[in-house]
Order: sequence, then C-alpha cells, then structure tokens
Amino acid sequence: MSAYKGKLSYDQTQCIVCQTCAFVCPAGAINITCKALKQSYEFIIWHNSCTLCGNCTYFCPTGAIALSDVRAEALPQSQKYTAITSATLAFDRCPKCSEPMIQTPNSLLNKGFSKRDDALRSLFNLCPKCRRESTFTKRVL
Ligand code: SF4
Ligand code: SF4
Repeated sequence: MSAYKGKLSYDQTQCIVCQTCAFVCPAGAINITCKALKQSYEFIIWHNSCTLCGNCTYFCPTGAIALSDVRAEALPQSQKYTAITSATLAFDRCPKCSEPMIQTPNSLLNKGFSKRDDALRSLFNLCPKCRRESTFTKRVL
C-alpha cells in the first residue's frame, strides 16, 4: 500500500469495496478499479483533488476511510500524481465453495449485531450464497 499522509486516512483491512465512497465523492478523488476479474481491486485516493467535504467518511459503512488529524495543505499541481494513497485489495476465497469474496470486517458486524460469537463470525466468513444456504438449512431442518 502506498500511503501518502494526507487529511484522509484509509485502512484497507476494513474496506469491503462497496464503492460507496467513490459514488458520493463530488470531486472524483476516489477511484476503485477491478484489476483482474475476481482477483483484486485497486483503490486510489487522489489527495490533490479532494475538497475535504467529508462525504466519503460519512457514508463509509465500516469506517475504512476517515479524516485524520493531519493538517490539510494545498498541494502544487506537480504533486498531483504522487500525493495519493493506493492499495490493492485481493479477494478472499469462500472456505466452502472457493468463490472470490470480501470478508466482512468486525467493525461492520459490531454495527449490525449486539451478540457476536464464533458462530456469527463463521457465518460471515462465507460468501453471500453459502451464507444464505447455511441460514436456510438451519431454519428449515
Ligand atoms: S472528503 Fe469529499 S472530496 Fe475528499 S475524497 Fe471524500 S468525498 Fe471526495
Ligand atoms: S472505503 Fe468504505 S465506502 Fe469506500 S469502498 Fe471501502 S468500505 Fe466502501
């Protein structure tokens, strides 16, 4: 991960690649691109384009992107391509069916569930399809 120390910080271990931040960014300062189909994503913050509106941090469901306490500074245009934070996010594999997936970070589980045990963590280690099947089987059988 290339981490330019700008006003926005990014924690790739918390990112679920939902793309909400890129969608709500009015400045086009966040780019998320699929590098190889179902292999990895590249996540980039262009700090020189960021207007510090805070939309991305407000809507990010996991807190992966946040305003840091670094002082915001205007940057010369020459630093446009170096003042970036970039990271490659590799897909995990579902332990049951091996489909590519992004694991749900604990920060998101903490928001959704008051009771979090090993069974819940195991369920969310599965891909959405296997998770549905597992829940359905438990309810029906
Ligand atoms: S703070 Fe605003 S302008 Fe900057 S990256 Fe986030 S959404 Fe875009
Ligand atoms: S930083 Fe947050 S909003 Fe952006 S893709 Fe990752 S989880 Fe989604």
